[in-house]
Amino acid sequence: MSIAQNLNHIKSSLPEHVTLVAVSKTKPVTDLMEAYHSGQRIFGENKIQEMVEKHEVMPKDIEWHMIGHVQRNKVKYMASFVSLIHGVDNFKLLTEINRQAARYRRTIHCLLQIKIAEEDSKFGMTAAEASEILQSQDFSELQNIKIVGLMGMATFTEDETQVKQEFTRLKQTFDTLKTIEAPNCKLETISMGMSGDYKLAIACGSTMVRVGSSIFGERNYN
Ligand SMILES: *Cc1c(COP(=O)(O)O)cnc(C)c1O
Repeated sequence: MSIAQNLNHIKSSLPEHVTLVAVSKTKPVTDLMEAYHSGQRIFGENKIQEMVEKHEVMPKDIEWHMIGHVQRNKVKYMASFVSLIHGVDNFKLLTEINRQAARYRRTIHCLLQIKIAEEDSKFGMTAAEASEILQSQDFSELQNIKIVGLMGMATFTEDETQVKQEFTRLKQTFDTLKTIEAPNCKLETISMGMSGDYKLAIACGSTMVRVGSSIFGERNYN
C-alpha cells in the first residue's frame, strides 16, 4: 500500500480525540510530502539535525515534534520552530528549553517522559520525580515552557499483558499528576503507542500515538 493509503487506513481507525504523529525519521522528504499531500500536518523526528533539515525545505504549516532523546546542547537548533518536545526527562533539560524558548519569545510545549518499560535502554523519570519537578518553586519560574502531558514507551515485547500494564501505569500517573496546578503546567496529552501497539495504547487511554513504519514502511538505518 502507498503512504497515502496507509495513512488514511490508520486515521480512519483512530478515535477523534487521538492525535496522530507521523514518525518520519530516516525517511526522505519525498515520503513526508506524500503524507503532507494527503493531509498530514504533524511529523515526529528523533534527531534534531534531521528535523531541522526537513523543516527548512518543507511547508511551514507543519507541526514538528521531537520524539527522541534530547541533548541539552542541541536544543538551540530547534527552539525557533519545534511544536512539542516529547522526551523531557530531567529538570536541567527543561531549564535549557526554557532559556532557548525565551530567546525567540516563545513558549515551547513539552511532555515529561516517564519510564514505564523494564528495559534499561529506555529513558524517562519516575512518577515521583515528575511530581517533585512539577510542584517545585524552580519549575514554576520557567515562563517559556509549558508541560502539557506525559510520554512513555512500553517494553519491546510480544507480551501484551506486560505492555498493557505499562500503558495503564502511565495513565494512572497521568491521572495523579494532572491535579497539579501551576501556570506552566496543564496535563492534557498522553503520548503512548507506536505501530505495533497503538491500538492497545488507545484502549489504555492514549491521546497521541507516534506511528512510523505502519505509514512509511520499514526503516533502513544503513
Ligand atoms: C521510531 C519511534 C516511533 C515509531 O515507531 P514505529 O514502530 O515505526 O511506529 C515512536 N516513538 C518513538 C519515540 C520512536 O523513536
